[in-house]
Amino acid sequence: MKELNHESLLDKLNRPLRDLRISVTDKCNFRCQYCMPAEIFGPDFPFLKKNEVLSFEEIYKLAKLFVDSFGVKKLRITGGEPIMRKELSTLIQMLSSIKGVEDIAMTTNGSLLSKHAKDLKKAGLSRVTISLDSLNNEIFGKMNGRGVKVEEVLSGISAAEEAGLGIKINMVVQKGVNETEIIPMAKFFRKKGHPLRFIEFMDVGNSNQWNLKDVYPKKQIIEDIHSVMPIEPIDPNYTGEVATRYRYIGSSDEIGVISSVTDAFCSTCNRARLSAEGKLFTCLFASNGHDLREPLRSGFSDKQLINLLSTIWGSRNDQYSIDRNSYLKENKKREKIEMSQIGG
Ligand code: SAM
Ligand code: SF4
Ligand code: SF4
Repeated sequence: MKELNHESLLDKLNRPLRDLRISVTDKCNFRCQYCMPAEIFGPDFPFLKKNEVLSFEEIYKLAKLFVDSFGVKKLRITGGEPIMRKELSTLIQMLSSIKGVEDIAMTTNGSLLSKHAKDLKKAGLSRVTISLDSLNNEIFGKMNGRGVKVEEVLSGISAAEEAGLGIKINMVVQKGVNETEIIPMAKFFRKKGHPLRFIEFMDVGNSNQWNLKDVYPKKQIIEDIHSVMPIEPIDPNYTGEVATRYRYIGSSDEIGVISSVTDAFCSTCNRARLSAEGKLFTCLFASNGHDLREPLRSGFSDKQLINLLSTIWGSRNDQYSIDRNSYLKENKKREKIEMSQIGG
């Protein structure tokens, strides 16, 4: 089987494949304006049908190929809201049995963690990134589109703490919507000891009415925090880390900023994304994914699947965040996959 090992495979821009993100559902119990605006993702929205979604066995098979043949060591489970997928801990258990998987993380809105954190941890989940955009119920309720209360997510965070899961917090910052929450959130999560990562509002998909003027830039986020609690930059933990890290001076407490819009990090992007329906996306802003479901269901051998994956990664030249300005300048229309389909 040695000739099937593609660990050193590089894409067209010399980037290896290291990180696989697996979306397990396109459904969600929130309707965040920046992701699944309720006007578009309403009761008649054509969500995937059961037989269109990859089964646990199919996800396992693909994940194992990525780990065994391409050197992927980290898996991240996402959605939609991943915990809405029934029996998710069974999948986590299956994935954690793959030799070579060093880390299984999950991105979640936290609302269902109170019920499931313990089982997920027991099944092999190591870490959760919990999304929370505000500590103010009025702001948060509007942003999540369903009036969900902050307390619901905070209970999820407590459950994750009790279960012994590693925790990070994601906060999307939208100008004119929640930038006033940057300092309260930074103080709150510093005290709790959980790294908070600020995410610039991104132009993912075609539904969220994104406009450059609504982006609260990394530079401003850093200045806001530094003026109240001085911070200094620190080195990345590893090549390809998405967040730029900072430390509160004189302590080991840290924050991060994910600046896809104002400070692109495509040159080290080593992530592939598998959608719930089995399409592989080589960029968060891609127009199309590569279908793996049909080859899987029509009986491709492991060797054929590996060759297909190698061709996909070997042909990859995505760097949308670097090219974004030229798209915007030329006012080029571009169809993009929705965030809720590939999970960020
Ligand atoms: N439902 C889960 C959650 O919200 O954590 C997982 C999926 S969600 C698509 C993954 C991450 O993408 C979340 O942290 C969310 O805040 C972020 N996100 C969604 N739309 C975004 C946008 N337009 N700009 C920046 N981040 C976004
Ligand atoms: Fe759901 Fe997450 Fe998208 Fe919000 S960001 S609508 S919680 S998938
Ligand atoms: Fe990776 Fe695409 Fe994001 Fe660049 S824009 S960092 S290539 S996902």
